[in-house]
Amino acid sequence: MSKDDNYYSLLECEPNSAPEKIKENYLRLARKFHPDKNSGQLTEKFIKIDKAWKVLGNINLRKQYDENCFRSELNDGIIIYARLRKEDLKFDENLTCSYSCRCGNEYLIHKEYLDVECILECSECSNNILIK
Ligand SMILES: [Zn+2]
Repeated sequence: MSKDDNYYSLLECEPNSAPEKIKENYLRLARKFHPDKNSGQLTEKFIKIDKAWKVLGNINLRKQYDENCFRSELNDGIIIYARLRKEDLKFDENLTCSYSCRCGNEYLIHKEYLDVECILECSECSNNILIK
Protein backbone atom coordinates (compact mmCIF):
# COMPACT_ATOMS: atom_id res chain seq x y z
CA MET A 1 0.00 0.00 0.00
CA SER A 2 1.48 3.35 -0.96
CA LYS A 3 1.56 6.13 1.58
CA ASP A 4 -0.87 8.23 -0.43
CA ASP A 5 -3.48 5.56 -0.18
CA ASN A 6 -3.14 5.11 3.54
CA TYR A 7 -6.47 6.12 5.02
CA TYR A 8 -4.83 7.88 7.94
CA SER A 9 -2.62 9.96 5.65
CA LEU A 10 -5.62 10.81 3.52
CA LEU A 11 -7.40 12.18 6.55
CA GLU A 12 -4.21 13.85 7.77
CA CYS A 13 -4.19 11.98 11.04
CA GLU A 14 -2.30 9.20 12.79
CA PRO A 15 -3.25 5.61 13.58
CA ASN A 16 -3.59 6.67 17.22
CA SER A 17 -5.75 9.73 16.53
CA ALA A 18 -8.97 10.04 18.50
CA PRO A 19 -12.24 9.43 16.61
CA GLU A 20 -13.22 13.10 17.14
CA LYS A 21 -10.01 14.25 15.50
CA ILE A 22 -10.55 11.98 12.51
CA LYS A 23 -14.08 13.23 12.11
CA GLU A 24 -12.99 16.83 12.37
CA ASN A 25 -10.34 16.32 9.68
CA TYR A 26 -12.74 14.48 7.46
CA LEU A 27 -15.32 17.27 7.64
CA ARG A 28 -12.70 19.90 6.91
CA LEU A 29 -11.19 17.99 3.97
CA ALA A 30 -14.56 16.96 2.59
CA ARG A 31 -15.61 20.61 2.53
CA LYS A 32 -12.38 21.60 0.85
CA PHE A 33 -12.58 18.97 -1.88
CA HIS A 34 -16.36 18.90 -2.22
CA PRO A 35 -17.59 19.01 -5.85
CA ASP A 36 -19.49 22.23 -5.04
CA LYS A 37 -16.19 23.93 -4.33
CA ASN A 38 -14.48 22.49 -7.38
CA SER A 39 -16.75 23.70 -10.16
CA GLY A 40 -18.96 20.66 -9.75
CA GLN A 41 -16.14 18.24 -10.46
CA LEU A 42 -16.02 15.11 -8.40
CA THR A 43 -12.31 14.84 -7.71
CA GLU A 44 -10.37 11.67 -7.10
CA LYS A 45 -9.21 13.18 -3.84
CA PHE A 46 -12.77 13.62 -2.64
CA ILE A 47 -13.59 10.02 -3.50
CA LYS A 48 -10.52 8.80 -1.60
CA ILE A 49 -11.27 10.92 1.45
CA ASP A 50 -14.82 9.66 1.46
CA LYS A 51 -13.65 6.06 1.22
CA ALA A 52 -11.15 6.58 4.04
CA TRP A 53 -13.83 8.10 6.24
CA LYS A 54 -16.26 5.24 5.61
CA VAL A 55 -13.66 2.93 7.12
CA LEU A 56 -12.00 5.04 9.80
CA GLY A 57 -15.31 6.57 10.90
CA ASN A 58 -16.64 3.12 11.73
CA ILE A 59 -15.13 1.61 14.84
CA ASN A 60 -15.28 -1.99 13.60
CA LEU A 61 -14.00 -1.26 10.13
CA ARG A 62 -11.21 0.86 11.58
CA LYS A 63 -10.13 -1.99 13.82
CA GLN A 64 -10.10 -4.36 10.90
CA TYR A 65 -8.14 -1.87 8.80
CA ASP A 66 -5.55 -1.41 11.56
CA GLU A 67 -5.07 -5.14 11.82
CA ASN A 68 -4.56 -5.47 8.08
CA CYS A 69 -2.06 -2.61 8.03
CA PHE A 70 -0.16 -4.05 10.91
CA ARG A 71 0.00 -7.40 9.20
CA SER A 72 1.22 -5.99 5.90
CA GLU A 73 3.81 -3.89 7.70
CA LEU A 74 5.17 -6.95 9.40
CA ASN A 75 5.30 -8.62 6.02
CA ASP A 76 5.10 -12.04 7.62
CA GLY A 77 7.88 -11.24 10.04
CA ILE A 78 10.42 -10.23 7.42
CA ILE A 79 12.55 -7.26 8.37
CA ILE A 80 12.76 -4.87 5.47
CA TYR A 81 15.92 -2.81 5.85
CA ALA A 82 15.44 -0.79 2.67
CA ARG A 83 13.00 -0.42 -0.16
CA LEU A 84 14.65 0.25 -3.48
CA ARG A 85 13.26 1.10 -6.83
CA LYS A 86 14.58 -0.83 -9.79
CA GLU A 87 14.91 2.41 -11.76
CA ASP A 88 17.23 3.86 -9.13
CA LEU A 89 19.71 1.01 -9.16
CA LYS A 90 22.93 1.37 -11.08
CA PHE A 91 24.08 -1.86 -12.61
CA ASP A 92 27.64 -2.45 -13.68
CA GLU A 93 28.81 -4.20 -16.85
CA ASN A 94 28.06 -7.58 -15.25
CA LEU A 95 24.49 -6.48 -14.71
CA THR A 96 24.90 -6.55 -10.97
CA CYS A 97 24.48 -3.87 -8.39
CA SER A 98 25.58 -3.98 -4.78
CA TYR A 99 23.89 -2.38 -1.84
CA SER A 100 25.35 -2.14 1.66
CA CYS A 101 23.44 -3.73 4.47
CA ARG A 102 23.42 -2.32 8.00
CA CYS A 103 25.69 -5.16 9.07
CA GLY A 104 28.33 -4.17 6.51
CA ASN A 105 27.62 -7.05 4.21
CA GLU A 106 26.69 -6.34 0.60
CA TYR A 107 23.56 -7.38 -1.18
CA LEU A 108 24.28 -8.38 -4.72
CA ILE A 109 21.45 -7.59 -7.03
CA HIS A 110 21.40 -9.27 -10.41
CA LYS A 111 19.45 -7.34 -12.96
CA GLU A 112 18.35 -10.37 -14.90
CA TYR A 113 16.75 -11.95 -11.84
CA LEU A 114 14.61 -9.00 -10.93
CA ASP A 115 10.93 -9.67 -11.06
CA VAL A 116 8.26 -7.09 -10.58
CA GLU A 117 8.96 -7.13 -6.89
CA CYS A 118 11.55 -9.14 -5.06
CA ILE A 119 12.98 -9.50 -1.61
CA LEU A 120 16.67 -10.21 -1.09
CA GLU A 121 17.94 -11.70 2.12
CA CYS A 122 21.19 -10.61 3.65
CA SER A 123 23.51 -13.56 4.03
CA GLU A 124 24.99 -12.21 7.26
CA CYS A 125 22.02 -10.91 9.22
CA SER A 126 18.24 -11.02 9.31
CA ASN A 127 17.67 -7.91 7.21
CA ASN A 128 16.16 -7.94 3.76
CA ILE A 129 15.81 -5.43 0.99
CA LEU A 130 12.75 -5.06 -1.12
CA ILE A 131 13.11 -4.12 -4.76
CA LYS A 132 10.15 -2.88 -6.69
ZN1 LIG B 1 23.05 -7.70 6.82
